[in-house]
Amino acid sequence: MLHQTNLTVNAAGHLAIGGVDALALAAEYGTPLYVLDEDMVRGRMGLYAAAMKEHFPAGSRPLYASKALCCKALCRMAAEEGMGLDVVSAGEIHTALAAGADPAALCFHGNAKTEAAIRYALENRVGTLVADGPEELERIDRTAAAMGLRPRVLLRLTPGIDPHTFKAVNTGAVDVKFGVPIPTGQALEATKLALGLEHIALEGFHCHIGSQVFQSGPFRLEAEVMAAFLDQARRETGFTAKVLDLGGGFAVAYTPADPRPDLAGMLRETGRRLNVLFAALDYPAPAIWMEPGRSIVGDAGVTLYTVQNVKTVPGGSTYVALDGGMTDNPRYALYGARYSAAVADRAGQPEDAAVTLAGCCCESGDLIGENIPLQTPQTGDTVAVFVTGAYNYSMASNYNRVPRPPIAALRGGASRLIVRRETLEDLTMFDL
Ligand SMILES: *Cc1c(COP(=O)(O)O)cnc(C)c1O
Repeated sequence: MLHQTNLTVNAAGHLAIGGVDALALAAEYGTPLYVLDEDMVRGRMGLYAAAMKEHFPAGSRPLYASKALCCKALCRMAAEEGMGLDVVSAGEIHTALAAGADPAALCFHGNAKTEAAIRYALENRVGTLVADGPEELERIDRTAAAMGLRPRVLLRLTPGIDPHTFKAVNTGAVDVKFGVPIPTGQALEATKLALGLEHIALEGFHCHIGSQVFQSGPFRLEAEVMAAFLDQARRETGFTAKVLDLGGGFAVAYTPADPRPDLAGMLRETGRRLNVLFAALDYPAPAIWMEPGRSIVGDAGVTLYTVQNVKTVPGGSTYVALDGGMTDNPRYALYGARYSAAVADRAGQPEDAAVTLAGCCCESGDLIGENIPLQTPQTGDTVAVFVTGAYNYSMASNYNRVPRPPIAALRGGASRLIVRRETLEDLTMFDL
């Protein structure tokens, strides 16, 4: 079942992505192939930017969490559509700068930033650094002092919210590797530390409650917990935050069984709630940042594979062996993530089989999914796996020395490569 709005069946009975025939794409670029609907990506980026302008406190803006899909083209799209960039490594900073991004629009995350990475960020005038805790505050302060700088810094806090039960909790959701917990009192201590450091300009706070959050409720709760903390910190230290970064995490529907996330509704409700909260606290509303990744690129992506063979084990499964797998999409192997798929050659026909989509690596666990409803597949068919725009290319590997696929972007019914296919020569490039 084609549950994404940009997927149709054309007159030839083939799957069309953003109006472009999937078999024509496979023929032009080869498989495996990542296809990204650029119109959809830009639409989402524009939706975030416009909604945050309309419903959120003045100065609010979205930053694209580039880890979801990081390459130069995506960094350019984000800049053109009015988004900053959330980066988590020197490599992501490098990619953004190589794409011509304004370093001031970058926000540098990570829970274990090395001194070298901090220095790299400062040398390149990255706009904001997010300190993950007290030691990192001191490391940033020391590095900045040696360079004669005073960077803008957010402090990452753990608000103690379980987005899936939609509750504020004192343990569990704070027992994670990221950030400084609010419920334990450590957040306030770290705030006092930051305010005392000479080479840090504390701008405000950051938090991120998780990923694949389908409702607006958890974001409203996140806003409430953070606003209460900002108010407490102001009373105890006199510090008024200029920025509150609420992180990312909004969901996409991976299969027809998933609920339809209402992005515009979530943004409207969260923005209104924030305005009400800060007005009630008589707190000058900070600029709100949000860092969507998956909800920008996730359902804009489709991966095309060619079926190499089909094996049915009597009383067992039907294995559909593909020319890619965990090397281009490790999410089933990593988390048991669910996908839906179609045979692109016969996308309008009923899904009369339930198959295991198997990858080409020497690992039994190299699967894209099990019990996936599909048109009965044949060797040579093109299989399209949906909603692969986020955390696929960015998590891809060269396991078994499999070259990573290219990315073809679709815009206005035309396609172009934004990442080329890796060659066999690329694979030995680092070998001495
Ligand atoms: C992963 C992450 C994001 C993006 O999350 P999505 O679920 O892709 O929206 C944003 N901010 C931080 C700090 C993250 O770790």
